[in-house]
Order: sequence, then C-alpha cells, then structure tokens
Amino acid sequence: MKNHYSAFAVAREALRNHTGWQRAWRRAQPKARYDVIIVGAGGHGLATAYYLGKRFGITNVAVLEKGWLGGGNTGRNTTIIRSNYLQDPSAAIYEKSRSLYETLSQDLNYNVMFSPRGVMMLAQTEHEVRGYQRTAHANALQGVKTEFISPRQVKELCPIIRLDGPRYPVLGALWQERGGTARHDAVAWGYARACSDMGMDIIQQCEVTGVRSEGGRVVGVDTTKGAIGCDKLGIVVAGHSGVMAEKAGFRLPIESVALQALVSEPIKPVMDVVVMANTVHGYMSQSDKGEMVIGGGADGYNNYTQRGSFHHVEETVRALIETFPMLSRLKMLRWWGGIVDMTGDRSPILSKTPLEGCFINCGWGTGGFKAIPGSGWGMAELIAKGHSPLTDAFSLDRFREGRFIDESVAAGVAH
Ligand SMILES: Cc1cc2nc3c(=O)[nH]c(=O)nc-3n(C[C@H](O)[C@H](O)[C@H](O)COP(=O)(O)OP(=O)(O)OC[C@H]3O[C@@H](n4cnc5c(N)ncnc54)[C@H](O)[C@@H]3O)c2cc1C
Repeated sequence: MKNHYSAFAVAREALRNHTGWQRAWRRAQPKARYDVIIVGAGGHGLATAYYLGKRFGITNVAVLEKGWLGGGNTGRNTTIIRSNYLQDPSAAIYEKSRSLYETLSQDLNYNVMFSPRGVMMLAQTEHEVRGYQRTAHANALQGVKTEFISPRQVKELCPIIRLDGPRYPVLGALWQERGGTARHDAVAWGYARACSDMGMDIIQQCEVTGVRSEGGRVVGVDTTKGAIGCDKLGIVVAGHSGVMAEKAGFRLPIESVALQALVSEPIKPVMDVVVMANTVHGYMSQSDKGEMVIGGGADGYNNYTQRGSFHHVEETVRALIETFPMLSRLKMLRWWGGIVDMTGDRSPILSKTPLEGCFINCGWGTGGFKAIPGSGWGMAELIAKGHSPLTDAFSLDRFREGRFIDESVAAGVAH
C-alpha cells in the first residue's frame, strides 16, 4: 500500500527530510498474459483500468503506453470541464463525469485540483442566443444545472470582458456554475497511482505494434516489449485510433488533426471564470500560476504533427483581443499541439468492435478531458459486462444506422 497523502503525511515527511515518500506507481514489466489489456495510458485508458478494478474487481490488467503516461492529449489540453451538451446521451456521460470530478481528489487520494469556478459560453450573435437558450432548456430537462445569463451578469462575473467588441457584441452567455478546470497531469497521475496500488501494471515505453486474433476473437497484442496475451482488449489511443483499428482489422469513421493551445506570461489574478467565445473563436482561463491559458483552433487538414504553428497563435490571439483588449499587452510564453480524433457528429465512440473481445474508446476530439472519469466509468462497465447505459448510444453501429449524436454546436469552439 502506498503512502496515504494527507496534511499529516506532508508534515511528517518535512520533519524527516522527505525520505519516506514512495514511488507513485511501480515500474512494471509485462507478464505473459492479462485478463484485460488497455492500450494507451492517457486519462481515458487509465480511468478505464481504475474503474475495472474499483467497480468490477478486475485487477489482472495492464495499461500499455508507447511514450510516457499522460504524454498525449491528456497532458496537452486546456483542462476545461463542463457538461452543458445538447443531446441526452451526451449530457448523461458528461454530467456523470463532472460529478465524479467533484470528489475525484478524495476518491483517488490525489489532489487533482478540481476548481469549479464556472464556465461561460458567450453568445455573440442572435443565432447563438437562440442556440444557447435551447441548450439551457434541454439541460434543465436533463438535470444539468445551467442558465442563460444577461450581458450585465457576464460583466459582473468577468469584469475584463469588453461587451461591445468591434465585430460582435456580447448578447449573453450559457453559464454553468459548477463547470471549471482541473490539473490535467494530476488526473493521469492520480489514476495511475490508484491502478498501480490495485496491482495493475502500467508499462511505459511499450508500443503496441499488432493485434493477435484467433477465430475472430482477440487473444493478445504484439509490442516493442514482446507479445502479451489477453482475454479482452481496450483501445484508448485518441489521435492514433485509426492506426490501431487498422492493426485490429477494422476501420473507424474518424479523422486525426492537430489542435493547439498557448499560454501567456503569468500575471496577477484578473479572471476567476472560464470564458469561451465561439463566434470569434477562442477561449481563456487563468491558471493558478497566473498564466492566461488560451485555446486555439484545430488544423483544417488531417495530420499527426502534434505541434503548434504561428498562424494559429496569431489568429487566436487576434480574435480574443476583440473580447479581452487587455490581452494585447501580454507576451505569449509557449504553445503546443496534440492530435485529436474527430468524428462526423462530434461525439465519441465507446463500443464493441468487429473483433470479438476488442473494445474501442475514441472520438473525444477537442473536448475529452472533461469526460475522463465518466468515460472510464462507462467503458469499464462495457468491457466487464458487454454493455453500459452510459455508452450504449455511442456504439459504432450509430454510423451505419444513422443515429448520429450531433454535438457540433456544443463542441463548437472545441473543448
Ligand atoms: C490543445 C488541446 C486542448 C484541449 N482542451 C481541452 C479542454 O479544455 N477540455 C477538454 O475536455 N478537452 C480538451 N482537449 C481534448 C482532450 O485533451 C482529449 O480529448 C483527451 O485528453 C483524450 O484523452 P485520451 O486518454 O483519450 O488520449 P491521450 O491522452 O492522447 O492518450 C492516448 C495515449 O495512447 C498512446 N498510444 C498511441 N498509440 C499507441 C500504441 N500503438 N501503443 C501504446 N500506446 C499508444 C499515446 O502515446 C497516448 O499517451 C484538448 C486537446 C488539445 C490537444
């Protein structure tokens, strides 16, 4: 059993020069066989493994990661958490997720720094006003607490906003008071520590290079650390989902593109809510260090580059200066990119696949950080029991049957 993290433990270690801390997770080598292998140690893969153990007692599990855990999109996103989606299946899984975030630090005994500071999505055209009012009504029916607020309330909540921008005035906003942010690395680290504690193996620097099957059923994987057998396989690799699906012998209706973000130099606290501005296209929050965390756009063409580019920075900052003129006086510190996996209806895929025993969790696109606990909760149930009320609507069949879950508006500015 690992150290229990607490104020008492911090004081005790301070007195003995921090010599008593243990590794947060074991450095594991692969065994010959596992009940379940999860490919991808991002937030979704780790959360799936965690809830397999916690909810279903399945702990003979390996999580295989080609790089370092949390080094994919999980460690590259802008950490916005909200559940104000339009369609019922989306509201269900994102709200489940948001509610799990509320107690995640206690559940994992790891401070994920969940900060429900409030998220507002600005309405800057009449079309957006109608769209967000509709979402607020839908959310009321779904039991998700949101409201449409006036420009005056927007200004009260976020005094640095300019309401009468040069192109688009602020006409109101969709406000979710218990939306917010969390520390992205901590979410991955907290789940990893809890999984390792349950006896699961998290194996980094271990790329899955092939999927083994017999008679239409998965039996294992080939990796850069050798072949490993399994009864069930969960593919949770975000931007590499198409590549992995090909190895497993099926195709996915998915595209991979680079999505970018950037941060400014740190400044004193000026903004204690998250603001998203879909029409001008940009969104912003302030980190605990004081940096303004800014989300940019996705590339307009498919690629696996995983890096930022100057024209996106210029475009995003120019757009946001319309709404936040104070930004024009800040230096931008650094920018980066991640490879996001986009479906046509902008909703995820949590599904069985044509290969028996093989499951896929992908398509979170530009907005899956917020969904990590809920997705792991549902995906674990899908793998353990063959279906889950949280994931049923997100199966691959929906593309064949035309049951799209259109979230192009909720996912509009990304995140
Ligand atoms: C710039 C940016 C901003 C974002 N902002 C937000 C936001 O504000 N809010 C929000 O909710 N979401 C946001 N997102 C989206 C969010 O980050 C992702 O949806 C989420 O992190 C996906 O998590 P994941 O675990 O599925 O994928 P990842 O974290 O990418 O994990 C997948 C892992 O699989 C590994 N892998 C791939 N192939 C293999 C292989 N063959 N073998 C072994 N391992 C493999 C990768 O190395 C990677 O570590 C943003 C994304 C980006 C890029």
